[in-house]
Amino acid sequence: MNSPRSTLAATLHSLDGRSYGNYKQIRGRYEFGPVTVFIDRVQVDPFASPSKVRIRINRAEAGFPTELTTDRHDRTAAADFLLRVGYTELSRLEQRAIILGRPGQEVLERTNVIIDDDGFEARLLVNLPARGRRILGHQAADILTRDLPELAQTMFLHSNLRADDLHEHVQLHRDQLELRDRLGAEDFLGFIGNGAILPRKSGDSDLPMSTPAGDTASAGTASGDTAGGGTAGGGTASGAVAFVSPTSLERSFTLSSGRSLTGMAIPRGVTVIVGGGYHGKSTILRALERGVYPHIAGDGREWVITDPSAASIRAEDGRAVTGDDISPFINNLPSGTDTRSFTTTNASGSTSQAANLVEAVEAGTRTLLIDEDTSATNFMIRDDRMRALIPAEREPITPFVDRVRPLFTRRGVSTVLVAGGSSAFFEVADHVIALDAYVPSEVTEQAHKLVGITSAELEREAESVRESELDREAELDRGTADTDALFAEPHPRIPTAKALRPSSKTKSAKAKGLGTVQFGKSFIDLAAVSQLVDPQQTTGVAEALEYLAEIFDAKTSLTEALAEIDAMLDAQGLDGLTGHRDHPGHISRPRALEIAAALNRFRGLYLVG
Ligand code: ADP
Ligand code: MG
Repeated sequence: MNSPRSTLAATLHSLDGRSYGNYKQIRGRYEFGPVTVFIDRVQVDPFASPSKVRIRINRAEAGFPTELTTDRHDRTAAADFLLRVGYTELSRLEQRAIILGRPGQEVLERTNVIIDDDGFEARLLVNLPARGRRILGHQAADILTRDLPELAQTMFLHSNLRADDLHEHVQLHRDQLELRDRLGAEDFLGFIGNGAILPRKSGDSDLPMSTPAGDTASAGTASGDTAGGGTAGGGTASGAVAFVSPTSLERSFTLSSGRSLTGMAIPRGVTVIVGGGYHGKSTILRALERGVYPHIAGDGREWVITDPSAASIRAEDGRAVTGDDISPFINNLPSGTDTRSFTTTNASGSTSQAANLVEAVEAGTRTLLIDEDTSATNFMIRDDRMRALIPAEREPITPFVDRVRPLFTRRGVSTVLVAGGSSAFFEVADHVIALDAYVPSEVTEQAHKLVGITSAELEREAESVRESELDREAELDRGTADTDALFAEPHPRIPTAKALRPSSKTKSAKAKGLGTVQFGKSFIDLAAVSQLVDPQQTTGVAEALEYLAEIFDAKTSLTEALAEIDAMLDAQGLDGLTGHRDHPGHISRPRALEIAAALNRFRGLYLVG
């Protein structure tokens, strides 16, 4: 079925006015000069999901520098650039029948545009035009034999692109990944560059708030090769105040590209962010949440780089929990429930937050991001009078403030915490950062003085904790420690072979917008999973659940299954997830943490034992 352009056009003209079902005969592959159009799947009626079409140009014709399109990560960045070119072009043409996908502020691995060893390909969804149930053949001919080949040439002929912009886009991505590696190697969990614009335009927009000068986020480190000199605007309501690091936490990094960056580097350990209400605390934490993904130039968060495993942890009452070991936080429930394998269809604020935390650790996070705004108070702290009034054995909850240090010393899991309402965390914080009108300063010494410890004491305490931890390790090795040792390696959770194969499920899992996956008869609620940023990632989560269903065999643990998916995705890319040979649909890569989040919220999950 290798037909010239005229054949497809002639067919479509001849189909004009015929009934819609006749479109199915155009399935096939057509050449238009350097462009190949693949019509993979034709919708059966005008209201069905759109037809699947791919456009492709070979490497030799496309003429891209191989230097930008060989490495896997470079390909992700270059494909992201080409997607943006295509999206802009379709908007300019006001061509709504052709759907290429809409990129956000993050650069994600996607199926929409791919670069492989042979060439460049876009995967499109096309609504084949109709009047009533009759084919509009002449319009269809314009779309398929004119607009699509032109789109391919706009996106994939290097000579049609702004080469400098493409190069900068790929280089920015390289630099972001290099900085991420450097931060990890030097034991920093995150970085916020001086000049970064953290606040967003509005509660429902992911675009940067304008700066007082009016130009959005061009300040500081975004494009220059010398960072620093952030233009703090004085905290007026008229625009965003650019980020400036406290001097004590300021670090500079010079990357192999020659770009150098200066900003606040957050060390591993426990960091607490304090400050008055509305002074920008949550905004910093949200920027760190998103910093697990690279951002595009002009976003304002290009140089907010976070440990890619960082997990936002919040209370989420009402969620289901299956077999979690929440015993480090919750014990002796009045119901007598065993909290080493805690199951509920309706978790409370504190139990849901404990579950979210232990699940994130199980899924491999090394950094917790916690905001007081979305936490259960009784999970976080308990003050002295309450400790005096309610005896420990009557209180099932050991608050997070008592666990945040062992979590770091025993499990290597760091925490960044926003706590403007309580001094309880001063004693356990390595660093306390205060925000005043969006401007951070380090107040660790004052905070420690207030609770009667000196930094030297905290050091000594940390040292003795480390020593006792070493003793503990030795005990564990000898098998003499008590079995419910705090944060000892938890029992792996192993789903049953049919865990994701409920008999009532007849259709594939499907994303419903950003916050829901339909799985058989149940709906998995992901509204609280805040690091899911793109609806295409939710589609990726749905596909991943189908993939997990194949892996689970009553022997493979959840952690092992997640690692298997990640390894497959690294090796084969997203196309490996769907099993489609041609057009996989529009999918973005979710992190293992978000896949785990969906699995953990599935109300039909069953575990072995
Ligand atoms: P907090 O958590 O301390 O109460 P938020 O982070 O919610 O404060 O921020 C309060 C308001 O200030 C929000 O509307 C936010 O968009 C705005 N804001 C935050 N950071 C900045 C900044 N750097 N410049 C200007 N406005 C900001
Ligand atoms: Mg807040």
